[in-house]
Amino acid sequence: MRSSAGSVWVSKMKYIDSHAHIFSSEYNEDFEEMLARTEERGVERIMIVTTEAEEARRAIAFAKQDPYRFQVAYGIHPEDVTKASKERLQEMEEIVSDPGISAVGEIGLDYYWDKEHHEEQKALFIRQIQIAQKVNKPILVHSREAIQDTYDIMKAYRTRGIMHCFPGSAEMGREFVKLGYYIALGGAVTFKNARHAPEVCAGIDINYLLTETDCPYMSPVPLRGKRNEPANIPCITQKLAEIRGISEEEMAEIIFNNYARFLGETDA
Ligand SMILES: [Zn+2]
Repeated sequence: MRSSAGSVWVSKMKYIDSHAHIFSSEYNEDFEEMLARTEERGVERIMIVTTEAEEARRAIAFAKQDPYRFQVAYGIHPEDVTKASKERLQEMEEIVSDPGISAVGEIGLDYYWDKEHHEEQKALFIRQIQIAQKVNKPILVHSREAIQDTYDIMKAYRTRGIMHCFPGSAEMGREFVKLGYYIALGGAVTFKNARHAPEVCAGIDINYLLTETDCPYMSPVPLRGKRNEPANIPCITQKLAEIRGISEEEMAEIIFNNYARFLGETDA
């Protein structure tokens, strides 16, 4: 929807970004402007995902000003498996125990970047799921070229969570949904050569679908290649609506409600 002036995007819809690295240094220069744009575009709720302890503490302090608008997640990323000392895990457990943390993540398995430490990655993933269960918080899962192992672990250590930037097939997506996990789709769904993401969007229970940017990465078309930010969420929601053959309003509302249900704020 455009204003009569034709230049400013005016939206009454409410959107969510379930995965945004807005405490990344990429936003140091224009953090306030970037946030103002999210408000303009109706992106009302943002899960701030952090990967360093210090970043997590800053995000927790920041999110306190508006805990409805900002959720915070922290976890040790699988790429950091060789740095995951006992001390770091202890510190991680302390941080995720904070009431300012809504989810543990991103955690998971990445066999694309790391071909050597698969067993260590699995052990770290399981350990962090157990910590999430102990503090009674859901998980945000990163999985790259490791979908079967990810699934096996998430089935064995069943909990609440989101498959972030879901890389698998629609069939695999349905298997995760059967276990109660949510599936988040981002910019990849808008790419011309996207194969899996549109099929996943079309083929899973709509009540388990979420939107995410994974910003600063993964800008949707037509912004591909540029720095991404939560204000771009409407492009993704629009694409999901198109794939499902429903209005963007309807899609935005369903996803908004899915996010609240994921956070445990509502039952159905
Ligand atoms: Zn991420």
